[in-house]
Amino acid sequence: MVKENCGVVGIYSEGDVNVIPMVIDALRALQHRGQEAWGLAIPNKAPLKRLGLVSTSSNEFKKITEEYASHSAIGHVRYSTVGKSDLESAQPLKVKDLCVAHNGTISNVEELSNLVGGCTFTPQNASDTLVAAQRLVSLITENGKLGSALSILKNEMVGSFCFTFLSDDDAVFAARDPKGFRPMVMGHKEDGNVHIVTSESSAISAIGAKLVRDVVPGELIKISKDGMETEMFSDDKNRAHCSFEFTYFAQPSSKMEGTNIYLARKRIGQFLAKKYPINDADVVIPVPDSARPAALGFAQELGIQFDEGLLKDRYSKKGPLRSFIEPHQSDRVEINRWIIPIREVIEGKHIVVIDDSLVRGTSSKAIIKALRRSGARKISMMVTYPPIKFPCYAGIDFPSQEELATFDGGKDVTDKEMIEKVRNDIGADFLGYNDAENLANAVGIPKDSMCFTCATGDYTPLGITPNFNKMKQMKSV
Ligand code: SF4
Repeated sequence: MVKENCGVVGIYSEGDVNVIPMVIDALRALQHRGQEAWGLAIPNKAPLKRLGLVSTSSNEFKKITEEYASHSAIGHVRYSTVGKSDLESAQPLKVKDLCVAHNGTISNVEELSNLVGGCTFTPQNASDTLVAAQRLVSLITENGKLGSALSILKNEMVGSFCFTFLSDDDAVFAARDPKGFRPMVMGHKEDGNVHIVTSESSAISAIGAKLVRDVVPGELIKISKDGMETEMFSDDKNRAHCSFEFTYFAQPSSKMEGTNIYLARKRIGQFLAKKYPINDADVVIPVPDSARPAALGFAQELGIQFDEGLLKDRYSKKGPLRSFIEPHQSDRVEINRWIIPIREVIEGKHIVVIDDSLVRGTSSKAIIKALRRSGARKISMMVTYPPIKFPCYAGIDFPSQEELATFDGGKDVTDKEMIEKVRNDIGADFLGYNDAENLANAVGIPKDSMCFTCATGDYTPLGITPNFNKMKQMKSV
């Protein structure tokens, strides 16, 4: 199984403006969604791909802008786990006359590969996007249109997808999976009559455009010299918006499903404080950076002082990166070395430390150790996301069950016992998790329109019963 969690963009200027500088700006605004590689594609040319952060290639921007000058383009930032972190696996990919950029995970890639002759897939050299693109191109050949091809492909694929496509006859397309697991929005800029479709509205703001709306799950958008056209390739009304985007993954300035992420996180903190009204705490501090709004909401709700007790070393190489999406455990440990506790804020106090997730527990354990070394009298840890107990097959890289902090050797334990085990492992005096109901209420989206599979183990939104042994095998490749 290949897992990716990425950011995509497609830009078309009806006013014939060169959109490449905008694609680069948009990809920089999506950098939090993938930091291993980036790329862009224009019609009738091989895609450009680079390893690392977009800014790493800044000395090439002028040349790229000139050599790839085009009024239509798509782009991609990549985060991979099992798939190789090499240039070949970077996106966009090109199959015949179609370039493809993908955010999501296709978990039945081996089966899908059989539909295109089975020649592409090997566990060592796997690319779910390439297999899906090959299948899509063969379906377009058989059925004529991209919309008809997607309406067939959606039934063949298990997983989540937001695609941007670019055809050699100069059209940009965007498609969002029928359940809306991953986010996708569209925007417009008057100057140059520029249309943009992308993973998050942070990219729309970055190019000076205005958010128009979310792309509807099951919608296919086409932008060409004839303007914008839209059609539905699925009439599924059931939604499964990833709840983890709201607590952790998305950029705080982004707006998803009509909700601003920063405000949603602040409300999540307020709702968490109602669930755990810890009134004897001296100070509430966030784990930097994404838990900051929730910590502020928590502190304001209870009238407790909010402060920064942990800072990231902004000058370090690893400091600005996010520990969860770094692929190697050693990198995560390295990142924790760059979180600096402020003794003057911590010493002698009952600290409520707010984090947005607790996956393997590595970061939490290191942070609690750092707080103790700085003289914390008592440490209560609050996690804005419910306990993660199951792997995600819809686009977020969680490890296999065995690697999760909540895993207790496969024993049948109660939630209370599981939380006590995690509390003990990370070394906190108290550990409080959010629950799905509370989180959905805080975000303002009905719980049954959100995905909580990684917390519940209910894979109904994906229509599968996963084989965890297989997952484990694939993880160890
Ligand atoms: S399983 Fe969890 S991380 Fe994956 S899409 Fe669902 S809520 Fe998001």
